[in-house]
Amino acid sequence: MGTTLGVKCPKCGKQFEWNTGSGFLEIEILHCDKCGREKEWNKFDEVTDGDLDCQCGGCFTDDAPVRCPKCKAVIEDVEANVENISMWD
Ligand SMILES: [Zn+2]
Ligand SMILES: [Zn+2]
Repeated sequence: MGTTLGVKCPKCGKQFEWNTGSGFLEIEILHCDKCGREKEWNKFDEVTDGDLDCQCGGCFTDDAPVRCPKCKAVIEDVEANVENISMWD
């Protein structure tokens, strides 16, 4: 089960979707901890050097902060800025 948050950036007003969790059993959504880029990750894949490195120099993780794709601001209070939530599986 995964969740898509419809978030509105409090800084620039950009509306964007932020996917979290896993859909199919083996697929997990990771985000870069520095730029917020999204990556689908197969949990059963062996991690080799560089797999979880983002081209910006950050690394992909499942607990990266929600970040605006436009102005790159970290959304500190996600709940206050969520406009809609949809679940998927
Ligand atoms: Zn990055
Ligand atoms: Zn923004």
